[in-house]
Amino acid sequence: MGNSCYMNSALQCLSNIPQLTSYFLLQNSNSTLSTNTNSQVVSAYVSLMSKIWSRDHQPFEPTELKQIIINLAPQFFGPTQQDTHEFMIYLLHALHDDLKTKTLNGTDISFISDLFQGKIETTVQCLTCENCNSTITEFLFITLPLEQQERYFVIEYISAEEENKTLCISTQASGLISDLINEFIKTYNNIFSPKISEANIQPQDLHNKTYETKSQLSDIQGHKIRLKKVPRSPQIYDAEGPVLTRRIGPLTLKDCIKEYLTLETLDEHGQNYHCQACAMITNSTMKINLNTLPDILILQLKRFYFDSNLQQKKNDTFVDCPISSLDLRNYVATDVEQKYNLIAVSNHTGTIQSGHYTTNALNSIDKCWYQFDDESVTKIDEKSVITKEAYLLIYARQNGTLV
Ligand SMILES: [Zn+2]
Repeated sequence: MGNSCYMNSALQCLSNIPQLTSYFLLQNSNSTLSTNTNSQVVSAYVSLMSKIWSRDHQPFEPTELKQIIINLAPQFFGPTQQDTHEFMIYLLHALHDDLKTKTLNGTDISFISDLFQGKIETTVQCLTCENCNSTITEFLFITLPLEQQERYFVIEYISAEEENKTLCISTQASGLISDLINEFIKTYNNIFSPKISEANIQPQDLHNKTYETKSQLSDIQGHKIRLKKVPRSPQIYDAEGPVLTRRIGPLTLKDCIKEYLTLETLDEHGQNYHCQACAMITNSTMKINLNTLPDILILQLKRFYFDSNLQQKKNDTFVDCPISSLDLRNYVATDVEQKYNLIAVSNHTGTIQSGHYTTNALNSIDKCWYQFDDESVTKIDEKSVITKEAYLLIYARQNGTLV
């Protein structure tokens, strides 16, 4: 069947999700599936899981499931390099379709959606009339950017003598307001006499409402902010002064999550928003919020992208991802604890043209990490679980309700 490491990697990831595997093994022992559904994907998946977890450690090819998927979705057939993520999501959708039942309000639910589905809220705000438009969508995975977006601001600086100067600055979009102030001072201090310092600057919106320097730049809608020189004020700054969040050291998973959730302006990259209230295309901002997170959270690192010449490129940046206790409480609209442990990683090695997929997964029985490279399995150290090859991350909620 040629190069199918992308399928093996996805299947090894899914196979090491304890709830998912127990669910299908239980289906097998009840043998209810063949009578209740005519689902070939589910029955092939069930027999694959029974084979993998049969304690018969002979390597084998998951031929039956692969053949069924290839018949249903011929795009997964052929010698070209395929994407393990696309295959995993295709398989989850296929399993969901075969298992789904309708709720009273007409929503399709299944064990798959119970386990993997979360909700995000996307809010677009028109900068002309300030109307907001929010939509809630369900997701089975989140794609996290590895590039830190820059954001452009027009700053109206008001000196102690109430003189105005309008200046432009661009800074990391996912930073704090204090980062913007520091960037402003670093860039423009040579034009001011006397020099300005961050402790004397009060950030305000254009209606004179004061911003906290420790709040996120995402709190600023639009491009304009006013910086006012004021006498040093202990109410605004604590003893250490504003905290710089500019990154030192490797990119972390939380940096990527912050970047994903940061406010994006929709006029710069040709994304147009048609505002219904203004009845025209206007400048706008877009912000994503996480509403609910699933028990099994699939995160895709955006390693593959198209450059300006429409050439597909791979980003090899190392992303520091926690193995245990990834705490997402601050990013979700809830007070409930949101802690996750890593249970599997799909790695992409090599280039786009000649790449290879492997899987690092935690065995839920002996609690050791293993690397699956097609038919070979090697025990690995926890320290080598995350490399610059990490592409798909599978996190399981601590104390997940379904465990
Ligand atoms: Zn509008």
